[in-house]
Amino acid sequence: MDVELARTAGFCFGVKRAVETVYQEIENKAGGRIYTYGPIIHNDEVIRDLKQQGVEVLNTLEELESLTEGTVIIRSHGVPESVCGLLGDKGIRYVDATCPFVKKIHQIVQRQSEEGAHVVIIGNGSHPEVMGIRGWAKGPVDIIQNAREAEDFSLENKGQKVCVVSQTTFNYNKFQELVEIITKKGYDIIVLNTICNATKERQEEASGIASRVGAMIVIGDKKSSNTQKLFEICSNACENTYYIQTLGDLNVNQLRSVETVGITAGASTPNKIIEEVQNYVRINF
Ligand code: SF4
Repeated sequence: MDVELARTAGFCFGVKRAVETVYQEIENKAGGRIYTYGPIIHNDEVIRDLKQQGVEVLNTLEELESLTEGTVIIRSHGVPESVCGLLGDKGIRYVDATCPFVKKIHQIVQRQSEEGAHVVIIGNGSHPEVMGIRGWAKGPVDIIQNAREAEDFSLENKGQKVCVVSQTTFNYNKFQELVEIITKKGYDIIVLNTICNATKERQEEASGIASRVGAMIVIGDKKSSNTQKLFEICSNACENTYYIQTLGDLNVNQLRSVETVGITAGASTPNKIIEEVQNYVRINF
């Protein structure tokens, strides 16, 4: 059995940086208890390990508001400006592990909206990264996720300046399609493709591998949006695409009849799990 493992599988720069920040804080023991605002990454294995080391996850704004001590780590997705303000007002120490690529979008949105632009975020409005980006705008924001929403987008002032940015994990082709629809409306538009290269490279490599193998395995937590997108892309290129969280989810019967298997993994999948799956497939088929 030939196995092709994607070079870009696993932790991206921003996730690696955020996870390392938490472990660093555990070592430093600088500010009492350690909390992350939301799970640091969408991976149950890593969250369990951190919990064992005393790191607690704050899941809601109410939990954050009721905090009186400790250190809060802001994850790679970033948060709205108001959250930083809240922690600052409460005098709670926080470490900002927002991925620099996401931070850059916060700065664009802040600056453009201060200059009067109507901000359009291409992405999923219920994703924390998008909610965070929205929270840095100083004026109106629209979030557009599909062609129908792009068609419906309409502003009274035709000369209005519009600034379009993207969720970092959005599909590149879909982004272009939506931008094309919005551009035709004739606003004074500036489009900033803020899709992260790590995501694009991972998606392109995965699509290439999926198109030449008999079966494709996508590893990642079910809650990880970038893994879900990878699965969607791979499924389009290879009908035998399987989404697993760990080796335990692998149905060995599904791989019996194929000669080549491709493996990729989302940005929040630890190397350990990728290695386990890869070794298992190489040894057993
Ligand atoms: S996918 Fe890109 S933007 Fe998102 S955390 Fe990773 S490096 Fe940062």
